[in-house]
Amino acid sequence: MSTGLPAQGHVLVVEDEPRLAAVLGDYLAAAGYTHHWVADGNAALPAFHAQRPDLVLLDLMLPGRDGVEICRDLRRLGAVPVIMVTARVEEVDRLLGLEIGADDYVCKPFSPREVVARVGAVLRRHRAANARPSAAPLPAQAALLVVDATGRASVRGRELDLTPVEFRLLAVLHGALGRAFSRDQLLGRIYDDRRVVTDRTIDSHIKNLRRKLAEAGGSEDWIKSIYSVGYRMEL
Ligand code: CA
Repeated sequence: MSTGLPAQGHVLVVEDEPRLAAVLGDYLAAAGYTHHWVADGNAALPAFHAQRPDLVLLDLMLPGRDGVEICRDLRRLGAVPVIMVTARVEEVDRLLGLEIGADDYVCKPFSPREVVARVGAVLRRHRAANARPSAAPLPAQAALLVVDATGRASVRGRELDLTPVEFRLLAVLHGALGRAFSRDQLLGRIYDDRRVVTDRTIDSHIKNLRRKLAEAGGSEDWIKSIYSVGYRMEL
């Protein structure tokens, strides 16, 4: 359904009951959100990577992987807000605790109107938190890797010894966590004159950058190779 207005946000709905998913989808659309629905826990992470949602509405009990496992994985991948949907009230403390780290929860049976209100509240909170000035204290996850405007980068406070090109490459990837860049796009952003380099140049810079991240206590795996596309950074 299109309202002609810009979407309020894109929501990934992970829910194995089609009727519930359909009702949620209708209410989300009426409130101006776009959404994508998957019914199986195993489909949640692939859909997350493909859809890049602003928020995940995650049922706890699912076929395939359950909501707890999925939420932990989402937490490792970055700061996407997660609202857990559960019929087990006694689980709530654990779901919201550090171990699992959902941003909010709704209990089944729920009112779809309430779910949509929660979606709006969590998104507003999340966007406000991300809009904070860079001088403010960073959340623990963001503090893993800090790339500042003066050409310095550090892993958990340990400064990286980077060449100017490696720094620019890191700044581009880190400035858009989770976004895939082709080699060509990366070349365009890190070199003023691209005639002097080839696509393979990027690969060797990525290799060095990965090694330096790992040596400073980070992980080579923070920079993912995406087959036939290029690279993406995830912390
Ligand atoms: Ca379920």
